[in-house]
Amino acid sequence: MTELGVDVLLLSVGADLPYLTGYEAMPLERLTMLVLPRDGDATLVVPRLEAPRVQERPEVFSLLAWDETDDPVGLVAKLVGSAGVAAIGDTTWARFLVDLVALLPSTEWRKGSEVTGPIRARKDAAEIVALRRASAAADRVATQLQSGEIPLVGRTEHEVSLDLGRRLVAEGHAKVNFAIVAAGENAASPHHEPGARVIRAGEVVLCDFGGTMPDGYCSDITRCVWTGGDPSSEMRDLYTVLQDAQAQAVDAAVVGTPCEDVDGVARRLITEGGYGPQFIHRTGHGIGLEAHEDPYLVGGNCERLAPGHAFSIEPGIYLAGRTGARIEDIVVATEAGPESLNQVTHDLVVVDA
Ligand code: ZN
Ligand code: ZN
Ligand code: ZN
Repeated sequence: MTELGVDVLLLSVGADLPYLTGYEAMPLERLTMLVLPRDGDATLVVPRLEAPRVQERPEVFSLLAWDETDDPVGLVAKLVGSAGVAAIGDTTWARFLVDLVALLPSTEWRKGSEVTGPIRARKDAAEIVALRRASAAADRVATQLQSGEIPLVGRTEHEVSLDLGRRLVAEGHAKVNFAIVAAGENAASPHHEPGARVIRAGEVVLCDFGGTMPDGYCSDITRCVWTGGDPSSEMRDLYTVLQDAQAQAVDAAVVGTPCEDVDGVARRLITEGGYGPQFIHRTGHGIGLEAHEDPYLVGGNCERLAPGHAFSIEPGIYLAGRTGARIEDIVVATEAGPESLNQVTHDLVVVDA
């Protein structure tokens, strides 16, 4: 905050608050807000009825509970006082920000992620252990997918999605964040919503799933399988290009490399393979308490990878209306080189129909 010239940090709904205090605000209409001045003590403003949820940590913050007829935004404005520059959590409800801006007309507003993003992006040893545990749990579900233990042919995408979700929980996740199942032509839509499409023999099934562990850290993995018989020549060709691009992008994720260069490696190889225009998203996103967070591996992000950065490497190739594939691992940048937290095979495994 000193470096950035921020006088006060305001955190509400989202992951920044639990990262700093251990308490997660309920994402409802009543205001919860940590007021953290650069100099001085922090106050956690909470609705009276939610105060019993808060594990008090007097060494971190003091608690200020507001009653149903109080004006919590006014309380926060009073605590902010004459602060010149306030940074407010990116996922704070707009209605609170709009009222705060009106009450504090001379305050300059910045995004909270300017303060918290770089801190949260670099994971410490305990966080890396937590991410390893999350990825290992996701890997166990991926192994069930690749071994044919999860029935595919004859079921709908939606049924398989629910099945993947149940397995994520059975393997240790506290909640499922997403379980994309995209069969055949639907694999051309990177964020396909699993639906009533019945999975047939002899096609690709793209599965991208992840959840949050009880300690708050997330998993995220994508694997594709082929449902019996030999993969089509179209799929074999694109998958060979994709698998090489994904592996080389992981190898390129060494400390000191600009984020955009890791994206550049995957993009160059996919372009050389003839599928440049069909790689329609960035190569990866950071991961931690949130499934998507800093740093983003995308053209234009010249931030350099540092030890403890944790992120996905997930290039994809999408042939609209026909087919598609994506391969995704979670990787941590370490002084000893990139460490892939997902260990299951990257091959297009053929599962018997
Ligand atoms: Zn995605
Ligand atoms: Zn994913
Ligand atoms: Zn991802």
